[in-house]
Amino acid sequence: RLTAAAIATAALLMTTLTACAVGDAARGENGMVGIAMPTQSSERWVLDGESMVEQFEEMGYSTDLQYAEDVVENQVSQIENMITKDVDALVIAPIDAAALTDVVQQAADQDIPVISYDRLILGSEHVDYYASFDNFQVGVLQGEYIEERLGLADGEGPFNIELFAGSPDDNNASFFLDGAMSVLQPYIDSGDLVIRSGQTSMEQIGTLRWDGATAQARMDNLLSANYSDEHLDAVLSPYDGISIGIISSLKSVGYGTEDRPMPVITGQDAEVASLKSIIAGEQTQTVFKDTRELAEVAVGMADAVINGQEPEVNDTESYDNGVRVVPAYLLEPVSVDQDNYEEVVVESGYHTAEQLAD
Ligand code: BGC
Repeated sequence: RLTAAAIATAALLMTTLTACAVGDAARGENGMVGIAMPTQSSERWVLDGESMVEQFEEMGYSTDLQYAEDVVENQVSQIENMITKDVDALVIAPIDAAALTDVVQQAADQDIPVISYDRLILGSEHVDYYASFDNFQVGVLQGEYIEERLGLADGEGPFNIELFAGSPDDNNASFFLDGAMSVLQPYIDSGDLVIRSGQTSMEQIGTLRWDGATAQARMDNLLSANYSDEHLDAVLSPYDGISIGIISSLKSVGYGTEDRPMPVITGQDAEVASLKSIIAGEQTQTVFKDTRELAEVAVGMADAVINGQEPEVNDTESYDNGVRVVPAYLLEPVSVDQDNYEEVVVESGYHTAEQLAD
């Protein structure tokens, strides 16, 4: 007679065998790639993931796509798990840029190449390549949009502006801010732009994990402390989810009427909610970064490294991660507003007209 323990052991053995079989069957003819993305709460990362899976599969790779929902520890264990599965390459968009040093070392110990996706992994020599957009230029586009809409270059002003930045633990956040300030700082110095709150440092204006609710709460405070008798003319916002939070706050104190028009509000990612808001005349601008193209760059890089080739790069000096300057391929971002969203976002098939209609 079989004892309960023997049955349990047999069952465990069966499960293990099945798991191995499934694992082997799931490995693509050219290998398997681990894709670690930050969160599904923002639409862009969902599109990034879908595009990469599709393109890797077309090239004969299977994928292990994981989202860590902005929890750093989850992302670390997801990557550890991919290393255990012996993936042939890792594509990682970090949540906290500085928190992956150990896990990336583990990947290197197993000869697994690492591609940093959109956001740079800091503090490790084992980041082989970086696929991203020109992040400084994203900020320049936001700053130039404010400059143009307010007529600053034509001598209009003074105007009131408030600044929001992204998550301080994301390397991109300071690139976006620096790009925007390269345009706006001269107007702040000349007094044509006035920041009534006086808040300009990353510590004051950063938005941990790019959280819209955090930005909304900060906007509430800024408005009640500085704008009861003043009109706010512009808000530098680095990301659509943050812009939506800012807009809710502005509406709650009466902005968005003829007497009190919405300030010029920038954004980034061309997310559906923000495009709808732009169409409705609330958010003013966003920056479109075609995640399908970024996926293509990253997939090409992974395929090249897996095959012992050197991927194409177009920037070898901008992205120093503290240990090495990571060779990068940077794509060009595009500024989008009411005038060009149809051409840029709809005609390119990124979002359908129906998605933006309801
Ligand atoms: C990305 C942006 C995105 C932000 C929040 C940044 O690292 O470059 O496209 O808006 O993260 O997810």
